[in-house]
Amino acid sequence: MEKTLEYAFQLDTEDSLKSYRDQFHLPLRTNGKPYIYLCGNSLGLQPKKTAEYVQQELKDWKNLGVEGHFHAQNPWLPYHEFLTEKMAKIVGAKPLEVVVMNTLSVNLHLLMATFYRPTKDRFKILIESDAFPSDRYAVESQLKFHGYGNGLLELKPRKGEVLLREEDIEATIKKEGESIALILIGCPNYYTGQVFDMKRIAALGHAKGCTVGFDLAHGAGNLPLELHDSNIDFAAWCTYKYLNSGPGSVGGCFIHERHAHAFDLPRFAGWWGHNKETRFGMRDDFDPIPGAEGWQLSNPPILSLAAIRASLDVFDEVGMPGLVEKSRKLTGYLEKLLEDMKDSVKIITPRDVRKRGCQLSLQITKWGGKDIFKTITDKGVIADWREPDVIRIAPAPLYNNYSDVFKFVTILKEAING
Ligand SMILES: *Cc1c(COP(=O)(O)O)cnc(C)c1O
Repeated sequence: MEKTLEYAFQLDTEDSLKSYRDQFHLPLRTNGKPYIYLCGNSLGLQPKKTAEYVQQELKDWKNLGVEGHFHAQNPWLPYHEFLTEKMAKIVGAKPLEVVVMNTLSVNLHLLMATFYRPTKDRFKILIESDAFPSDRYAVESQLKFHGYGNGLLELKPRKGEVLLREEDIEATIKKEGESIALILIGCPNYYTGQVFDMKRIAALGHAKGCTVGFDLAHGAGNLPLELHDSNIDFAAWCTYKYLNSGPGSVGGCFIHERHAHAFDLPRFAGWWGHNKETRFGMRDDFDPIPGAEGWQLSNPPILSLAAIRASLDVFDEVGMPGLVEKSRKLTGYLEKLLEDMKDSVKIITPRDVRKRGCQLSLQITKWGGKDIFKTITDKGVIADWREPDVIRIAPAPLYNNYSDVFKFVTILKEAING
């Protein structure tokens, strides 16, 4: 492999997904050139078709008022259903198992209302020690809410290591399993980019009687997920990271088919989860819709769903297998270019492509990582900094290309070498 910009251009020419970059708005610098945007793990870029999808709903609202629920071009009453099949395909689930509703932290609470059922002997929740802060707050507050403030159990890397070892996860579940009510893990971990074996963790947890859920904020639209086959109980994710649906947009949920008709499961209810035939009767006892839809509370924000629909149409056209294939090449290319700098840049993300998505988390070992981060930002790179000492770089295969990666590494090299 030649380490030149010309070679990166050549890889771009040969890239079968190259035309998709043009379907996104790339943020521009004051000099009119695009930023090197490597931050799709935090907020994905806007697809050019999004405006049209959102405009359509504004237009129908303007012209139809409340009648839009039935007579909009895409009627609002069933609007969330237009998203289900494509979202299910992205996460490897059956449509019955997926719903788009609320936002991620809210959904984690709603899912815990059902799937965290502590008892005196089994009340712990197992998470990663470096779980995303919001997940930790959600879990700690659930524990306190149920009166088990001391129930947090953390998976910690070994001393001197940053990644969790699978054998340690396994040992913890085997040893503590009988006291664990819920296992809730982020996949991949937002900080290290480490992917966990969901199927294996589900099997180990279930063997001990635990429920098993995953936070897929960094997984949906990034990893080749097979949620149904993984057999986990539930998952939740946001759509504004790799799924490019816009800031604060509505999230997604997965609830495994085996719970689809478990109407005796306790849940927090609202009218949107009620039988569609009698929803407007308003006087019946709550009659949940089978499957994930039965966990909905409110009628959803249509403008946000419209933006998600625009993005899912792009994903549907490309398909996750093609996307993952490019992603592995692109991130592999980044990894290769960084090899030259191994004295000053340490990749903490796993090197095995099956154990990571597109993100590489970099520790700058030479000096002042945060200063380096500031320098590359000034030079037009948009990435992100995570305390205490990591720069996260996420080449998103839909709109990033090999030249982005090459230019980023060049700028990083210059920043480090002064
Ligand atoms: C991004 C992210 C969140 C954000 O939650 P919101 O409710 O959408 O604000 C939560 N958890 C993880 C793991 C994340 O990566």
